[in-house]
Amino acid sequence: MPLSTDVTLPRDAAPLFPDRCIGCGTGAPGSTWRFARRASRWWSFFVTWIGELHVVEVPCCTPCRARLRRQRLIRGSSFVFATVAVLAVVLPALEGVDRVLQKPIALGLLLATLAPVLLYQVLYPPPFDTTVGKKYVDYEFADSDAARDFHALNEHLGAELES
Ligand SMILES: [Zn+2]
Repeated sequence: MPLSTDVTLPRDAAPLFPDRCIGCGTGAPGSTWRFARRASRWWSFFVTWIGELHVVEVPCCTPCRARLRRQRLIRGSSFVFATVAVLAVVLPALEGVDRVLQKPIALGLLLATLAPVLLYQVLYPPPFDTTVGKKYVDYEFADSDAARDFHALNEHLGAELES
């Protein structure tokens, strides 16, 4: 299954990571990727700059860090891009349409565009991600072995593995 394997930890826990690159799996990468995410709410798909910041240092080699940062930026802005693109195309095209129908059509097309973007993100998760809740943080790994190793290292902190 390409879906992520998640490990849940209390939000204030400072977890240990296996000493290998989160991107390519190389041992002792010697550098880290400072991974920050804000507490999630329903609007987090669109508004990513509100909410308390949670930061972890994830072992990562330098080339992977540059690649993963780029991918994260693209993924993070894909909803905004898709929304802007749909509205830019759809709104002018709806000029002649009955006003009562304009909103449902625009909304329908928007959902039809965002659904595959969301589906893609769920089916092809990034190597590492976090979901920050009120009291807990989900550490999400595309590689289930990495998740299991991470879980084993942090069991003493109350880590729970969900797969
Ligand atoms: Zn790497």
